[in-house]
Amino acid sequence: MTKSTCGHEYTISLVQLKEERALYQQFCHILTSLLPEVALSFFIRPSLSRKEALKLVYQQHVDQALPLDEMLEKAHQCRGKPALISKSYTCIPLRLDDQVIGLLWIYEALTPANCNLAAHLMHVFFHQLHTLVLARIDPLSQLLNRQTFDEKVLEIASGQGFLQPREEPDLRGWYLALFDIDHFKRVNDSFGHVIGDEVILLTAQHLKDNFRAEDYVFRYGGEEFAVLFQAHSDEEAQSLLDRVRKVISQVAFPQVGNITLSGGYTEVTDVMQVSELVNQADTALYHAKQHGRNRVVFYCTLGLATPQVMTSDIELF
Ligand code: GH3
Ligand code: MG
Ligand code: MG
Repeated sequence: MTKSTCGHEYTISLVQLKEERALYQQFCHILTSLLPEVALSFFIRPSLSRKEALKLVYQQHVDQALPLDEMLEKAHQCRGKPALISKSYTCIPLRLDDQVIGLLWIYEALTPANCNLAAHLMHVFFHQLHTLVLARIDPLSQLLNRQTFDEKVLEIASGQGFLQPREEPDLRGWYLALFDIDHFKRVNDSFGHVIGDEVILLTAQHLKDNFRAEDYVFRYGGEEFAVLFQAHSDEEAQSLLDRVRKVISQVAFPQVGNITLSGGYTEVTDVMQVSELVNQADTALYHAKQHGRNRVVFYCTLGLATPQVMTSDIELF
């Protein structure tokens, strides 16, 4: 490290941030400024979930990267210690509930003082990230909450993402699906709200388990869920959603037995407003409800003309 610092200013600069992307950027900036000439890689599970794989968030001066498995093995070896310093590397893991959820790999031996500083700042970054991630979670279902929904749709529609872009162009499109539990009032009426809550929680878990880690599953309302997911085609999207619907219809819920879901979905495009997208998915969902429930309907198959609104030509105020 070229600069002597106790890390105080950096700590403050991290805890002030209230937005994940800015937090990532600031932490990467700190790494560059603390270790300007040093080869390093920084990985994290962005949602901090166990299901997700570690993703490379930031890397500098790395000519030949070590396989992640080897780094992880070392990370597991420093159980009980904040870091592992060897002749040729320094490994600083981040842990949550005994799981490695982040990893800073430095391709040289840091001095203990520098290693402590880097580890301290990484932990500050992590705690701030954890706070921001928790604020996005719905307490009953543990899914992403409604407040996070608009933000994510806008992020996806504008093609942004706070992680590094993929090496290969991603040819998949994004879709928005809304799912609603069929005849849920009957569950509450017959078994009470506590059991009703349990059905919501279990349905949420099944939804989460049946989509990929990089898809986003939200609790949109009471017993309504929204999913933002990717597919290569409308047909693939339909079969993916139908598969999930069938899986859930076969689950035996304690006391309640089987439940079914109705769903509606539409493709996410950058020209549509969030409310318009939700309206389309909701219209398709309504159609599914009207036509027997326990089915998933694609908005485009309804044959409804989309009003061509040129928002740029309209002066709203
Ligand atoms: P449909 O098939 O048309 O969707 O019928 P439904 O009975 O499911 O009707 P609707 O979706 O309109 O009703 C949802 C019910 O879900 C109404 C509300 O009492 C209940 N509900 C909403 N949030 C919660 C919750 O957090 N816990 C429980 N137990 N019930 C909830
Ligand atoms: Mg409902
Ligand atoms: Mg319902």
